[in-house]
Amino acid sequence: MPFSSQFDAALAAPFAARFRRLLDPADDARLHRLAAESAALTRRHFGRTMRLFAPLYLSNECINSCAYCGFSRENAILRVTLEIDEMLAEARHLAAAGFRNILLVAGEHPKFVSNGYLETCVRRLAEIIPTVALEVAPMETADYLPLVAAGAEGLVVYQETYHRPTYAEMHVHGPKKDFSWRLDCPERAAAAGFRRIGIGALFGLWDWRDEAVALAAHLDHLLRTCWKAQLTVSLPRLKPAAGDFHPRHPLPDRELIQLICALRLTFPHVGIVMSTREPAALRDVTARLGVTHMSAGSHTEPGGYTGQGQENLHLTVRGRAVACDGPAEAATEQFAISDDRTPAEVAQKLAALGLDPVWKDWDPALTPA
Ligand code: SF4
Repeated sequence: MPFSSQFDAALAAPFAARFRRLLDPADDARLHRLAAESAALTRRHFGRTMRLFAPLYLSNECINSCAYCGFSRENAILRVTLEIDEMLAEARHLAAAGFRNILLVAGEHPKFVSNGYLETCVRRLAEIIPTVALEVAPMETADYLPLVAAGAEGLVVYQETYHRPTYAEMHVHGPKKDFSWRLDCPERAAAAGFRRIGIGALFGLWDWRDEAVALAAHLDHLLRTCWKAQLTVSLPRLKPAAGDFHPRHPLPDRELIQLICALRLTFPHVGIVMSTREPAALRDVTARLGVTHMSAGSHTEPGGYTGQGQENLHLTVRGRAVACDGPAEAATEQFAISDDRTPAEVAQKLAALGLDPVWKDWDPALTPA
């Protein structure tokens, strides 16, 4: 049974109440105990490794109107979809920086980001990068199959908010309006054969404890139903972006650390991802507490690493391309990053913290024939 059909019952189940207790306000002594236990569990199950990856944005075209996102159709921004050769130039730049694990990211636009285009991107990228994951619009299982066959082994899809009224308010237009369709996406992806599945909530839209409990309930469900896949969880917090949306329910640093610990205590084997949305100092602290996967040196716009796609940049206003006032130099980013260290600097810091940066943790040759 898909999670959407069990969602309300899962939130009322004893598991949810137990997880919520881990999120109760904690004094310093309790938080230190949680942190020590979380750090020990992380070392036991993941060793001293920190898996590094980079996002590669293919396109910032989007037909959805997500109130919090810089790529929202409502925003008048500079957009582009990279050609295959341009994508490869970005990938080679990331490979030269050390990455062997790339997350392809694209907005939702059937014209620019068709399944055929994505399949070609994956196939060509997989020739030079052994670990390829996707963060793109949710699809049917049948539509995922060619992408898996082309070499995509990871799929990331965030529910954004698990609070239905807030979801409806934030997603007024476009296919993303369908809460349940998105909620069941990880199971469709697992059925298609993705080896890694990542889920998450975008913190800042609704009460952080409610979001965290629902996210934990979702993870718990996926652990039982998608047991062949490795699971990761992300806890992105809203960042400045075009559209100027401000967090309504901020998740403070201290509570974010408590949440990471609560997830580690509850799910000892699940990877926890922290992106460059977060500042360097906080990433360095959480790297020793429970986080197991990090992006580094990220750009959140297509062509951000090497300036690819400049010739095709265009200004889009409410879904229509209009003339630019002057020469355009770069596509608009999805959101601002906070940790602007280079990949080498991040790796160096991790080593100084006693951790082993892992640039490559998978190769297709490991797949049974
Ligand atoms: S969050 Fe995704 S679907 Fe929504 S506007 Fe941004 S890119 Fe499009």
